[in-house]
Amino acid sequence: MTFLRRLGRAFLLRCPNCGGGHIRSGIDLVADCPTCHHHFERHEGYWLGAVMLNTAAVIVAFLVVFVGGMLVTWPDVPWTGILIATVAVSALFPILFHPWSKTLWVAMELSAHPPSDDETASAPGWRRA
Ligand SMILES: [Zn+2]
Repeated sequence: MTFLRRLGRAFLLRCPNCGGGHIRSGIDLVADCPTCHHHFERHEGYWLGAVMLNTAAVIVAFLVVFVGGMLVTWPDVPWTGILIATVAVSALFPILFHPWSKTLWVAMELSAHPPSDDETASAPGWRRA
């Protein structure tokens, strides 16, 4: 299983472990993949990495809107419009990106720390894909 394949599955909001669907419940993930039974939250504090990814993505979105808005409208920059746009992006983007931040984190974490035999033995039906 390559890292890029896991990332591709994550971008499609599918299980990074097996590629199975139906892993979302609203904007959040279900606890376990219905296909391979991978338990997504592997330990306490697991989602801190997803929060970090979401924060980094919001910073990039903010900079794209702020710097892009300035560059496109220079020298008559509409500061009020850019302020409204950057506030809107900073408020909405974390909510919209939330599912991807989690699936991308699962993909990166699975590649860096594959499940141990103890972990897979404690999840009945778990299978490596
Ligand atoms: Zn799965």
